[in-house]
Amino acid sequence: MNQLDSLYQQIILEESKTRRGADLTPEQALDTHLPATMGQCHQLNPVCGDEITLRIETSGSTVSGIHWAGDGCSISMASASILSDMVVGVDRNEVQSLIDRFREVMRSRGKLAADEEVLGDAAALSGVSKFPARVKCAMLAWVAAEDALNQTR
Ligand code: ZN
Repeated sequence: MNQLDSLYQQIILEESKTRRGADLTPEQALDTHLPATMGQCHQLNPVCGDEITLRIETSGSTVSGIHWAGDGCSISMASASILSDMVVGVDRNEVQSLIDRFREVMRSRGKLAADEEVLGDAAALSGVSKFPARVKCAMLAWVAAEDALNQTR
């Protein structure tokens, strides 16, 4: 394993324990009557057993909050934690392009290198793209965030 790979593994391990943004309460997770500035999405990855309910809050064109509840493998939890650290205070269009870029790398089967300048710590997950069965684990929170964001106005 090279140095970058082991650094990336360390980031995944730490983020999977930290679970930034994992503060959605059970009551909130069940709440379906959200104001137009919020969106919420539940995603399940039956292959691995990963599950997430993720809420996005917006203020104007800016993402002002992200909260989630869920459980799953370390890749899915690290990915949700990393995502949560990246989007608050960011313009919604920029968040969407981050999601697009991350999806592109994840679907590349290891062919696309993640640009750390753009993807930050999410670049640590780029190695997952070599393992198609685990791509859904890494994408789970991002798919939920995209859906939640699309519900907001
Ligand atoms: Zn998983």
